[in-house]
Order: sequence, then C-alpha cells, then structure tokens
Amino acid sequence: MTQKTTANPDKTKEILAHLDKMCSSSDLDKDILVFLSLFSDLFKTDQCFLAFHGGENLIINSNYSIQFDKKLEKKILNAIDKSTRIQIENLILIPIKILNQNLAGLGVFRLAVLSELELAQIEIFCNILSTAIKQNQIFNDLKVNNEKLLVADKQKTELISTISHELRTPMANIMGFAELLLNKDFDLNTTKTYIKEIHNSSMRLANLISNFLDLSRLEVNGILQFSNREETELDWLAERAWQQLASLNKTHNLKFQKDPNLKPVMVDGDAIQRVFINLFSNAIKYSFDQKEILCILDQHSDSIEVRIIDQGIGIEPENLENIFEKFFRVNCTQTKYINGTGLGLWITREIIQAHGGKIWAEKNKIQGTSIIFRLPSSNMA
Ligand code: ADP
Repeated sequence: MTQKTTANPDKTKEILAHLDKMCSSSDLDKDILVFLSLFSDLFKTDQCFLAFHGGENLIINSNYSIQFDKKLEKKILNAIDKSTRIQIENLILIPIKILNQNLAGLGVFRLAVLSELELAQIEIFCNILSTAIKQNQIFNDLKVNNEKLLVADKQKTELISTISHELRTPMANIMGFAELLLNKDFDLNTTKTYIKEIHNSSMRLANLISNFLDLSRLEVNGILQFSNREETELDWLAERAWQQLASLNKTHNLKFQKDPNLKPVMVDGDAIQRVFINLFSNAIKYSFDQKEILCILDQHSDSIEVRIIDQGIGIEPENLENIFEKFFRVNCTQTKYINGTGLGLWITREIIQAHGGKIWAEKNKIQGTSIIFRLPSSNMA
C-alpha cells in the first residue's frame, strides 16, 4: 500500500533555486552532490546517487560511497540505455536524457515505499535536473569558446601592432634613400650604395610579407599546401638564401659543409628558400657580430638533414619546443631589444611538415643553438 505525500514547499523552492544556479555553475560535480543532499532531505531517502554512462562503465556521483555488483551495474546501465525506470528491492532508478542521449539516471534507495505522487514529483525533478545539466554544458562550452575568442582577439591586436612595427623600419629606409636620390645628384658609388639599401629593405619587406601571407593562409586553411614541387638541390637553395641575406648583412660568416653525395629533394623551392632565410636570419639576429654560422647538409638513407649551428645567445631547454609555437618569443633581457614577430619558426615548421619533414632545436654544448630539419630525398633520383 503506497502513501500519498507532498514535497515540503520550502525545500522544493530551495532545490529549484539550486537547479537554476547549476545551469551556470563552473563546478558541476560539486553542485550535483549538493543537489543530491537537498533531494535526499526532501524525499527522506536512505541514499541517492546520480549514475552516468561512462562508455561501458557506470560513473556514480554520490555523497556516500556506493558500490554495485557487476549484475546490478549492468541492470542500471540497461535501464539508462532504454530510458525505462527500474525497481530492484528498495532501489528505484529513473533514467535521465541529456541532450537527447540516454546518459544518466537518478537512483533512490528508500526503505519506505515511494508513493505515486512522490514518484511523479521525482520525475519532474529529473526533467529539471536534465535541463540544468544540459544548460551547464552549453554554458561551459560558450565560456571556453568565449575565452578562446578573447585570446584570439588579443593576439590579433598584438599582431597588428607587431606588423606595423616590423614594416616601419624597412619602409622608412626605402622612403628615406629614395627621397635622397630624387632630391640630389650623387656620384655613381654613393648612388649604388643607396640603391643597394633600397633593394635590401625591399627584400626584408618581401620576406615579412611572405610570412604574414602564410599566416593568413594557415588561419584560413589550417595547413600550407605546395603544389609547385620540383626536384631541387637543397644546397643550391641554402646558398641562394645566404646570398640574399649576405647583401643585407656583412657581420657574420657562413660556412657550408655538404655531403658530396646529396640527392635532390622534391620541394617548392620558394618555400624552402624561405625556410633557410628564416633560419639564417635568426642565427644572425640572435648571435653576436663576427661569429660564425655553420650550415651542414648530410645525406641520410632516405632524407637530407640540415643543421644550422650558431654561436649566439642560445635557448634554454624548456623553450626548445615552444619556439615553434605561433607568436612565441623567448622573454629575457637579451631578446628584449631584438625585433621579431614570433611567426618565423612556426611558419618554418609548417612548411617543413607540409613537405613530409620535421624540425627541432638543440642547445649547443658550448654556446648557441642548432636548428635541425630533415626533408625526404627524392625517389626519382
Ligand atoms: P622572431 O621573429 O621573434 O625571431 P621566430 O619564430 O623566428 O620569431 O623565433 C621565435 C623565438 O625563438 C625568437 O623570438 C627567439 O626568442 C627564439 N630563437 C629563434 N631562433 C633562435 C636562435 N638561433 N638563437 C636563439 N634564440 C632563437
């Protein structure tokens, strides 16, 4: 014989207010436990729990430690799957749908039999609980997305300021020397020097713009694609890149050491030349004048390994991987006054990976950094 009982209105209000709060809670597990204790108090249960479907297993949220034997666990999982209420002795389990999936169930142990009215009330609470959990998931997804948007927005603002800053110096050079040449007649040597300055700054601009273009391609497509691949000699690309930079920079010495048996590589020449330009520019930027930079090209069984070794400021081991992340710049007194965007190595890694290769950094034993990359050598050779 079942008894008719009605839920205490004040306690009912308290649970409803709590369920409302749960919709935007940042600690759902803790709030589920508070719900269970309020619920237990309202319906005078001996124990209650919320069971979730965790793949094959049952995950129990409860203020008590509850363990079921495998058979009962299976029955509870079945009831959740089929959305059918089960009663086994003094346990009643009411399945709860979350986002149209049968994911959870509210389990109630009570020695005193639950009346039909109480069961109807419990089902109403289950529906509200399901909505609260669903809202909470949506709320937290939105929160995560919002945080991502805020980070992206901050990065965009920083990028715009970096771009303007990085473009300003070569632009000012070009305008300054062009104006000088327009306003005054100089002897042939001076004219040539000024034209060389204009040419150097234009090349620096072109490299910066290529990096920014790659950045926007990567943001739109997620990867860089190179359909323009040709069999190319890697040492030729390295030497061309150095020649471009050497006209800008006379302070450092580059030594090449190459395996006489280098096989060609199947690459987009412009992109790989940009890889060398980025790596050589860093070796120059982050090392002291007159220091030597060594570029070693070694033939391995199916790849070529390139090692660019400088004697510069070096990179601490904890940053050897981070330097390949977008916008990452080592923050220390030595790098404070060195200009940069934090994009070069990230784009370099994307280019190398798009060609089936890999790149990493090592701290040299005595001084400086080695950046090493491998590219598959062409099978057609
Ligand atoms: P940036 O435009 O800042 O040089 P990169 O992506 O090329 O951007 O490099 C990321 C960071 O890695 C740099 O800011 C610098 O702190 C560090 N770095 C890169 N190459 C070297 C190097 N050869 N020696 C020391 N630090 C380096």
